[in-house]
Amino acid sequence: MKRKNIVAGNWKMHKNYHEGGALAQSIINKMGSTSTAVVLGTAYIHLKNVQKSLRGISNMYLAAQNCHEEEEGAYTGEISAGMLQSIGVNYVILGHSERREYFGEDAPLLAKKVDIVLSKGMSPIFCCGEKLDVREANGQEKLVKQQIQDALFHLSPEAFAKVVIAYEPVWAIGTGVTASPAQAQEMHAFIRKVIAEKYGTELADGISILYGGSVKPNNAKELFANPDVDGGLVGGASLNADDFVAIVNAFEE
Ligand code: PEP
Repeated sequence: MKRKNIVAGNWKMHKNYHEGGALAQSIINKMGSTSTAVVLGTAYIHLKNVQKSLRGISNMYLAAQNCHEEEEGAYTGEISAGMLQSIGVNYVILGHSERREYFGEDAPLLAKKVDIVLSKGMSPIFCCGEKLDVREANGQEKLVKQQIQDALFHLSPEAFAKVVIAYEPVWAIGTGVTASPAQAQEMHAFIRKVIAEKYGTELADGISILYGGSVKPNNAKELFANPDVDGGLVGGASLNADDFVAIVNAFEE
């Protein structure tokens, strides 16, 4: 199965409403024709505005960075998956290391979030990855396998096929340190093997596995050239239209 190349930006908690609108427009204006799926992952306040800007553009999609795990209810300050779906959101980033670390999101909670996102017809971009101490102890494969098993392996094959995985070594996020292309390939191939063992090779071959962690215009091409690296989840560099578009274009060169 031919899997999709995807470059997703994660704006995190950056940009006010006006700046966000301008950034999205600037990315759209600079983007040439590409077969890569381009995803803008914005804070909630930008979603509707960016969705309007993306109308009619066939390869660009919208992502939220979180959602609540329940359908609806008395959860002051929260946003539901159904609300996101109702304004045209396509993807929801789940399990980002910042959500795990600062908001205590664990596997049982993430499994519920994965379920509700899928039930609304959206796709989770499910993040996994080890901290530095785990890598130094060579425990990264065991940990990443556990993260994927615990939050995703309850899914039916049909549901799992809609998931996008992002491997994001925590030591590479926002640090300027990138996993080497060989380290990325090694882990992505391992993740695909773990998925194949549970769901079969055909399904595993169709899953897009993105690399995240200080992806920049000057390293994207080398990272994306690996057979099991199907794109990137990009934090810092997604806040600059030129850099983000250059990263998308790394697939085309
Ligand atoms: C991220 O937070 O998803 C990320 C990969 O950030 P950065 O590109 O800034 O390392």
